[in-house]
Amino acid sequence: MKHALARRHLARDGSVLYDNPRALLLCLFRSDRAPCQEDGRLSEPILDRCVPDCGNIVRTDRHAVGLRERAKELEIEASHVPGPLAQRGLAAAQKLREQADEHERTRFTYEEASS
Ligand code: SF4
Repeated sequence: MKHALARRHLARDGSVLYDNPRALLLCLFRSDRAPCQEDGRLSEPILDRCVPDCGNIVRTDRHAVGLRERAKELEIEASHVPGPLAQRGLAAAQKLREQADEHERTRFTYEEASS
């Protein structure tokens, strides 16, 4: 699904979509299930506190590609640093790959969502 098309489709019920390029995702914000908020009463997400397993996360294919690219970068960096730092980088890369895999498993096209 193209990024702009995804935005239009996902926001069709009046929900507000927030772009969070740093976290490689879109936030389909619903305040009643927003772990980035401490009391759940704010009217918008706190993007720099985004939680990786939040149910408001939506990704496009482009985000998944970005996740894999970032994972590759982390693996390259890990090959140049000592043990514990390398392990941390490799673990972070693995999490990004898992997020990309999850997207691949659950992705749908605009046509599929519209039928
Ligand atoms: S945790 Fe992330 S995806 Fe979830 S509501 Fe907050 S900013 Fe949006």
